[in-house]
Amino acid sequence: MELSHYRIFIGKDAPKRTFIWRSNSSPFKIMVAEFMLQRTKAEQVEPVYKKFLQQYPDILSLSKARINSVAKYTSSLGLHKRAPVFIAASKYVIKHCKGNIPKTREELLKIPGVGDYVAGAIMAVCYNNADYVIDSNIARFINRFYGLKLSGEIRRKKIIIERSKDLFRTKNQQKFLFALLDFTALICKPIHPGCPNCPLKNNCGFYLSS
Ligand code: SF4
Repeated sequence: MELSHYRIFIGKDAPKRTFIWRSNSSPFKIMVAEFMLQRTKAEQVEPVYKKFLQQYPDILSLSKARINSVAKYTSSLGLHKRAPVFIAASKYVIKHCKGNIPKTREELLKIPGVGDYVAGAIMAVCYNNADYVIDSNIARFINRFYGLKLSGEIRRKKIIIERSKDLFRTKNQQKFLFALLDFTALICKPIHPGCPNCPLKNNCGFYLSS
């Protein structure tokens, strides 16, 4: 992707959403946000996230939490079976990482509940050191923009990972990730993408071949 395309993502006219977890790059808080955001819309997560962090402001307090107390929050997001995962992740970090969220993808992936996307997001947002970040939205954008025409479970395909690596060779990965997530939520949407008004359309494989 060219520099001018990055400017489209992060420029002042780019579509933007503001969420409370974006004003903080504490790895613990980002991990909590990403756990809550799995299968739940960001707008729904925000009020629950705020209250959750008032009760569990750090990894130690969460590691000592009771499942029923955490379940009050996770169930309200439809994540009925996830409460044990929040606690297990915190206990793991306390026990194996001296209470510090690790800084490498390999170590992050050992934390219960942390998958490839959450690891990448923590690396990008907190450490500016992700080799790549991919969720279903980012994979969809890559598939379209580069005209790959892949189908099925595309997130794990090698070419998608390679293209994500290219994209994340950027100075400010946090800013770029948030901008890319906003772009895929507001313009390059799963259904009815806003191609006619998209600033990338003249370089987009999907648009040019449709
Ligand atoms: S032109 Fe359409 S498919 Fe291509 S990046 Fe823009 S919204 Fe997505």
